[in-house]
Amino acid sequence: MRVPVRQYIQLLGTYVRPQWRFIAVLVVLILGTIALRLANPQILRSFLDTATGGGPRSVLVFDAVLFFVIAVASQGLAVASTYVGETVAWTATNELRLDLLRHALDLDATFHKEYAPGQLIERIDGDVATLSNFFSRFAIQIVGNGILVAGILILLFREDWRVGLPIFAFAVFTLFLLIWIRKLAIPYWTKYRKLSAEFFGFLGEQISGTEDIRANGAEPYALRRFAEYSRRLFPYRLRSSLGGYGMWMANVALFSVGHAVAFAVGASLWKAAAISLGTVYLIFHYTELLRGPISEIRTQITDLQRAEAGIRRIRTMIETRSKLIDTGTERLPEGPLTVAFDEVSFAYEACNASTDSRDATEGVAEGAAAGRTIPALTSISFRLEAGSVLGLLGRTGSGKTTLARLLVRLYDACQGTVSVGGHGVRDVRLADLRRSVRMVPQEVQLFRASIRDNVRLFDAGVDDVRIHDALSALGLDDWIRSLPNGLDTMLEAGGGGLSAGQGQLLALARAFLVDPGLVVLDEASSRLDPATEGLLERAIDRLLERRTAIVIAHRLATVERADEILILEDGGVLEHGDRAALAADSSSHLSHLLRTGLQEVLA
Ligand code: ATP
Ligand code: MG
Repeated sequence: MRVPVRQYIQLLGTYVRPQWRFIAVLVVLILGTIALRLANPQILRSFLDTATGGGPRSVLVFDAVLFFVIAVASQGLAVASTYVGETVAWTATNELRLDLLRHALDLDATFHKEYAPGQLIERIDGDVATLSNFFSRFAIQIVGNGILVAGILILLFREDWRVGLPIFAFAVFTLFLLIWIRKLAIPYWTKYRKLSAEFFGFLGEQISGTEDIRANGAEPYALRRFAEYSRRLFPYRLRSSLGGYGMWMANVALFSVGHAVAFAVGASLWKAAAISLGTVYLIFHYTELLRGPISEIRTQITDLQRAEAGIRRIRTMIETRSKLIDTGTERLPEGPLTVAFDEVSFAYEACNASTDSRDATEGVAEGAAAGRTIPALTSISFRLEAGSVLGLLGRTGSGKTTLARLLVRLYDACQGTVSVGGHGVRDVRLADLRRSVRMVPQEVQLFRASIRDNVRLFDAGVDDVRIHDALSALGLDDWIRSLPNGLDTMLEAGGGGLSAGQGQLLALARAFLVDPGLVVLDEASSRLDPATEGLLERAIDRLLERRTAIVIAHRLATVERADEILILEDGGVLEHGDRAALAADSSSHLSHLLRTGLQEVLA
């Protein structure tokens, strides 16, 4: 558990160094605050000694005013140092957050499949927030408080070693005892946090599934699970709270002892006339001043362990390299593109797990351990001429979507070559490939934004004229006009408010807007109402004009649009050929499919 501290310093060094000016200011502010806090009791002593010794009134007034000024100034400095500290911490960690996000977006689909969205959020935001917190506190609390404690002890020793030594012993003893007590409560606290993360995961799932839960009458089940989670949480919550309470009690008790020690020492030295009354008060005040820093240091030392875990996870993520290496330089030609698959095989688990051992430790191992190494595609070969339409058929799970994913390089094939426009996809710049090859996915992701932004995908460079042109070319302008606010109509989160068919219409417009040379259309398998179906038919017709297309067909109308048909079964090619010829041959799988009815087999 010790290594990451160095890594932590390295990591923060990269992000903190640019802000050295702020840090210099921070150091000055912290030192100033400490000096003022140490100075105040000295003034009190002078005041007390002057008063008891019958000194001049002017000194008393001076001391009083000085005391007041210093008290106000030290609060001001404390606020300023918190402000600067937080600014430094947040600026630095926001940079880190941005870098992590950029990195995560560059990583391949395998990575994103491993991490649940919640985990990724926790990694990019949660862990970094812990770090940021830790950093701002670390500077101000541990270093600052350490100096403050040292200052207090030095000043006490300067008064008299018989004062310094007992208070020093008291401080060390208290710190260790408090850390020890806190350690007792930590396992409960950690367990509580873990359970409560699970609990919120459960809640999130249930809330997003409200519709299905109601529709299937599963409310009692959901309630029961809720109660079970609460019951599991309760004892840990109780014990960790008791731990927290215990710590507070220990703190109070220990400091009562501390005050007693301070008074005992002060009183005996005063009796022996070794110190003045003001000094007795000074000793008491400094002892009281120890309370804050000691409990802060104690908290920070235990937080260090949390930060360590965070750093470790952040490092792992930074070190994860994308499996999709973007070193291609080829550019794709304009216009329709040819497609060729040459002995292509692919498996989601095996191929990926064996190429990267680091990932196998987190998540991927599960898939491999479960024995799911069945290839999703095996030895697929076919060629599609520029401008033709290939209808891709096959039962559910036969590998149709997988084949489409290889075309846009969401994954790389394990064996064989996928070529588009005469170049292997790995030789083409990734950005170029994804511009020229557009996939309209089976489940369209719509964003909580206006229809305009959903169509142009937030690309402000695309103006309304182009959007309207695209929509009217696809025959969708009437539909848009029928919406309450036209392009400004806001969609709810997750595309709520639109049917699956309408969602696909928007996705078609998205693809049309960038004028790709190859369209991969993964048709929605849900049934459509006749009106939407009519719109969709026309839009697809327009989208496929003068383009190469691969259409994963779930409806007869789409199959009939294809020039060629490829039927997949269990990841292999079952049948491939000219559609008209296959349809005419009564022994072909296609004509069998057409006879038995597509829906039955494909949907
Ligand atoms: P459908 O008609 O239902 O859309 P499909 O033909 O598109 O089916 P694919 O999604 O390509 O089927 O799935 C092919 C195989 O790969 C299936 O066995 C599936 O379980 C598996 N598979 C699909 N996606 C993943 C993934 N992201 N990770 C692991 N395995 C996957
Ligand atoms: Mg699919």
